[in-house]
Amino acid sequence: MNQQAVSTHKEPALGFSSDNIAGASPEVLEAMVDCNTGQSAPYGGDALTARVERKLAELFERDVDVFLVPTGTTANALCLAAMTPPWGSVFCHPSSHVNNDECGAPEFYTNGAKLISVDGPSAKIDPVNLRKAANVKVGDVHVTQPSCVSITQATEVGSIYSLDEIRELGDLCRASSIGLHMDGSRFANALVSLDCTPAEMTWKAGVDALSFGATKNGVPCAEAIVLFDKKLAAEMGYRRKRAGHLFSKMRFLSAQMDAYLTDDLWLRNARQANDTARRLQDGIKDLEGVEIFGAPQANLLFCRLPAAVIEGLLAAGFVFYHDRWEPDVVRFVTSFATTTEDVDNLIANVARLAG
Ligand SMILES: *Cc1c(COP(=O)(O)O)cnc(C)c1O
Repeated sequence: MNQQAVSTHKEPALGFSSDNIAGASPEVLEAMVDCNTGQSAPYGGDALTARVERKLAELFERDVDVFLVPTGTTANALCLAAMTPPWGSVFCHPSSHVNNDECGAPEFYTNGAKLISVDGPSAKIDPVNLRKAANVKVGDVHVTQPSCVSITQATEVGSIYSLDEIRELGDLCRASSIGLHMDGSRFANALVSLDCTPAEMTWKAGVDALSFGATKNGVPCAEAIVLFDKKLAAEMGYRRKRAGHLFSKMRFLSAQMDAYLTDDLWLRNARQANDTARRLQDGIKDLEGVEIFGAPQANLLFCRLPAAVIEGLLAAGFVFYHDRWEPDVVRFVTSFATTTEDVDNLIANVARLAG
């Protein structure tokens, strides 16, 4: 081994702002290099892409249609566009990424469908509110028509829909003939937390279309649109190309997704992220002036800290969001790359500053 590598002491990482500040798993980068050899059919006609499709079908225990795309915004917006006519409405939580963080991409790709927010505790859509919203002026030509519901699993605050909760929303959607989309930017984090199968958390509970995230959990730039409804698949290929998101050198996206799904890398990575978030919560929850919001079921932790602690952490170089919500509310996010040493260093600093 390289002498320098042995002697170099790695300082704990100070970034807890999001899970996309991490790099990628070495296995995924190696797979990208490996797939570079030789020629390969373009636009997803290659063997590696076919293997990813097979792997996802196996994973979901059924026939699925798979479309690899580079970002979660693309996956979400194209799914919603396939499920919603321009005169349709998409029901989503007020805190959802599709509502707040996609610069109108859902509206753009749907050709102007209306996003209607439906509130509920812990960033989860309340079924009672949804039932009300989905029954407003149905059939009235003056009003956008209920077309689709989008839920985020795990949610933007780190909470997780239980299987029963997804099923209840799924039943509601079915009864109203509207589609159910899942923004699974943190799909793996939710899955290992619930300890269920991918099938149970999606189509068996009524999900028609899934944005299967990978970027936040260890790949450089690949997400999969996974469709459980054949009717949606027919037009998705055209939509992806028209949006400019059909990669000619698809093998590089497929290599990422293939490695991600090999030897449970995606599950191991998610466990690491969830476990370090849990360790952080356990390490600071009893400290003076610390108030934890909700249980961390995934890899996001929201809490209230004394202002002096926040200032002290920032002065020590820690990076995290602290001025987006009520005063003194902060968000810490861990990732597959967060180590116990990273977290213990953060805990030690909170403890020091909290006195
Ligand atoms: C990060 C994230 C996405 C995807 O974002 P991109 O930056 O477009 O890849 C989608 N939904 C949620 C909830 C996210 O946190």
